[in-house]
Parts: sequence; structure tokens; C-alpha cells
Amino acid sequence: MPAAAAATTARYDIDGFLKIIGDVPVTTDVQRVRLRSRDYFWYSPVLNKQLHGKSADVVATPRNEADVIRVAAACAKLRIPLTPRGAATGNYGQAVPLEGGVLLDLTNMTAIEWQKPGVIRCEPGLKMNDLDAASRPNGFELRMHPSTKRMATIGGFVGGGSGGIGSVNYGGLREPGNILAARVVTLEETPRVMELRTDAAQKVNRAYGTTGIITALEMPLAPAWPWIDVIVAFDDFFDAMQFGYDVALADGIVKKLLTPMMWPIPQHFNALKAHCPEGKHVIFCMIAEQSVESFKAVLGARGTITFEQPHDDSAGKEPLYEYTWNHTTLQWLKQDRSITYLQCLFPHDRLLESVKQMIEMFPDEVLPHTEFIRFAGKVTCSALPIVRYTTEERLNEIIALHEKNGVFIANPHVVTLEDGTRHKSTGADQLGMKAEADPYGLLNPGKMRTYKPVKS
Ligand SMILES: Cc1cc2nc3c(=O)[nH]c(=O)nc-3n(C[C@H](O)[C@H](O)[C@H](O)COP(=O)(O)OP(=O)(O)OC[C@H]3O[C@@H](n4cnc5c(N)ncnc54)[C@H](O)[C@@H]3O)c2cc1C
Repeated sequence: MPAAAAATTARYDIDGFLKIIGDVPVTTDVQRVRLRSRDYFWYSPVLNKQLHGKSADVVATPRNEADVIRVAAACAKLRIPLTPRGAATGNYGQAVPLEGGVLLDLTNMTAIEWQKPGVIRCEPGLKMNDLDAASRPNGFELRMHPSTKRMATIGGFVGGGSGGIGSVNYGGLREPGNILAARVVTLEETPRVMELRTDAAQKVNRAYGTTGIITALEMPLAPAWPWIDVIVAFDDFFDAMQFGYDVALADGIVKKLLTPMMWPIPQHFNALKAHCPEGKHVIFCMIAEQSVESFKAVLGARGTITFEQPHDDSAGKEPLYEYTWNHTTLQWLKQDRSITYLQCLFPHDRLLESVKQMIEMFPDEVLPHTEFIRFAGKVTCSALPIVRYTTEERLNEIIALHEKNGVFIANPHVVTLEDGTRHKSTGADQLGMKAEADPYGLLNPGKMRTYKPVKS
């Protein structure tokens, strides 16, 4: 559809917007705009209904920060909503423009500004796999990444993610030191550019792009080891849990991933069927090559290694991590759309008891898939259990029962920041930043429900 035709159907002055932004690349083709306005919210039967048909009016694809500033200024002047977007792999409709307007696709901003030992500074649209490919020759890689590393951008991870592979060592993105700095453009008639360093960078972490547009990130790195992907099978799920816990606590064993999963979850791992024996519970691991011998010594006769291969996440390969974190849910959804999932955080001081309690409370309804992580320095598990979905009411009941029993839930079936956190509120730092960076309430509107625009 030509630009002019799109503009006449829109709620906003898109023609005026296109004039102001000049040669910034845009797409107004309705089909393409609609497609790009979706993310992976369909994992949630609740959001799948709620977000159906939501779309931007135009997609702008900046080439650099100067383009971002032009788009932000035009949106502020014409009061058009703007939603930043990376690869749109988020699960809660984070990148879905609820009120239309401009979708700001940052995937063309991929430059690496510089690298030093243990640090990289880059633009937000850089895919995490490309970031690692650039830093590995220097002996470093990202401290943590989501299981969507091969598709997702570093800006989208900071804007909408929380942690993942590597969090067993470093915790989540929220832990001090895991984001060194973020450069941010505000949504004002004359946009300002701010450098948020150390703690201040948390103002844009998992804020769904509501508190500013990230145009550069400085990320800390970890040593890049030759990793070995390993699967171990167990007769008893709690043997897998106990073994994972032992390895997580063994600081001398260098690891990046420890993911216990209860049978029948592995039944849905088609390509790995030969390595996931019928009826057995498994743990999927990434272990540094030099630690594999010690890993096996800790295992002893408790379980059987069914898979052991050098890790490779280059094109055409399938790394083990694409069966962990929220890829576990995806592997099941590929065969059966009737299930969904939750995001849990178990208490570190009664981890195994708490996991057991939840299994007993929801037999065959909530199937455990746990992820060993560090949280504020303590070893515990987050979890993305598979839930056999019946109704929204039952889903909310399951969530309430987890919370009542001390298991925190970050609800993946809601679109607002407040309802999706385990604290049920927006951090004061993010609310304050919103007032500074987005006085008109135009950045990804509908996602921070407690914010009242300070200007109209
Ligand atoms: C199969 C599967 C597995 C997943 N596993 C994990 C996991 O292990 N850990 C995890 O944390 N997440 C996980 N996710 C969620 C998601 O893939 C990651 O968080 C990913 O890093 C998001 O990156 P993206 O480029 O796709 O961001 P998008 O989805 O495009 O954006 C995410 C949010 O960030 C905002 N944003 C994007 N770019 C910017 C910017 N430049 N400035 C400001 N805001 C911005 C967007 O508005 C949006 O709100 C998973 C999702 C799927 C589908």
C-alpha cells in the first residue's frame, strides 16, 4: 500500500511524520507493518486473544542515532506513539504497539563502537550471536544470553529480557555490574541523549522501551571457554535436581547452563529423541571442556550421560540451549498448542522442598522445568514449567497458589510492566525516568500503567 493511502487510514498524522523525518527508511505497507508488529505473545492463550490485530501505522528503520533523534522529535511534535523493536522475540507483547503509531525497528543499528578485555560497546540492534562472534576471537563472550541468542538483539535483551544461559554464574541482567552503561534518546520535541552508567542503566532494563530509546550499550563479558553440551538422564527427577544443585554449588566446575526437566517434557524434543530415553528425567548442561572430567566425578553413578558434544551455535547447527529456558516451551508448542507456561523463582533456602511441594500440588498439570541461577549471590532455580492450560481462571489460581507458597511469579500472561513483575509495581527509578524521558506518555503506551503523563 502506498504511503499516502496508509496515512489516510491512520489515527495519527503519518503524512506529517513522513515529511519531518526526511530520508529515514520507513515501511508503510500494511501487511509488512502488521507482521512486524507481532512478537511471541502467542505463547500465552490469554495474550493471544488480547493482542490480536494490534498494529503500528508505520515502521521506521533508523540507520544511526541521528535518525533515531529525528524520529523521536517528529513523534513528540505530532504526539504519535513510538514503540522500539529489536527482533521481536519477546513473549509478553512487549514490542506490540497497543495504540499504533510508529514501530521503531532498530535492527539496522548493529555497529560495534569498541571492545576492551571484558567489555564491549555496541549499537542496540546487534544480534547477540554476532556480538559473541566478534568478541570470541579476543577470548570473551556475553556473560549471559537468552535461548533466542541466534535471533535476538542486545537492545531487545536489555529492554525486555531478564537472564538465561550464563545466569548460573552471573545472575540476571538486574544484578549490579551486568549492564555497564546505556545511551538513551528521550521522546521530546528536542530529544536529549543521556548516558546512564552502572545503576542508572537499570532505568531502561526490562522497561519495554517505555523509558527511552537505547542507542548504545556497554556490556560486560565473560571468558569464552570451549563449551561441551551434555545431557544426563535420571530415573528420579530429584536426582537430576540434586545433581544440578551440586554442580551449581561447585565453584571449581566451570559451567554455563544447568537445566533439569521432568519426563514427559523431553518426549517433545524430536531431534534429541535418541538421547532422551523414554520415561527418564534429564538435565541439559553446558560445561567447559576442562571441567567435564570433574563434572563426571560429581555425577558418579547417579545418572547416565546420553549426549556429549562440543557446543556449536553457528548457522545450521542446533545448540542444546535451544531446548532450555523458553525454548523448552517452544519445543512442546511445536507439536501441541494446548499448553502454556509460567515464570517462577524458587526460594533459595528451601529450594528442593519448594519444587517438590509445587509438583505435589499440581500433579500432571504443572510439569517442572527448572533453571539453576544465582540470585543476589545465592544459588536457586528459576523455572519455566509447562502448564496444561484449561481456563484463564485456573491459570490465575495456579499463579496465586505458587505465590501463597513463597514461589515468586513473573506473570507472562499480562502486558504491563507492573503486573508482570514479582513485585507487582514499577521501580521508582523507572517511573522517575519515564517522566524525564517521555513527558507525553508516547513510548510504548499501555505497558507502564502507573505512569500519568506529566505533559499533554
Ligand atoms: C523461544 C523463546 C525463548 C526465550 N528465552 C528467553 C531467555 O532465556 N531469557 C530471556 O530473558 N528472554 C527470553 N525470551 C524472550 C526474548 O527472546 C529475549 O528477551 C530477547 O532478548 C528479546 O530480544 P529482541 O531483540 O527480540 O527484543 P524485542 O522483543 O524486539 O524487544 C523486547 C523489548 O525491548 C524493547 N526494546 C527493543 N529494542 C529497544 C531499544 N533499542 N531501546 C529501548 N527499548 C527497546 C521493545 O520495545 C520490547 O519492549 C525468549 C523468547 C522466546 C520466543
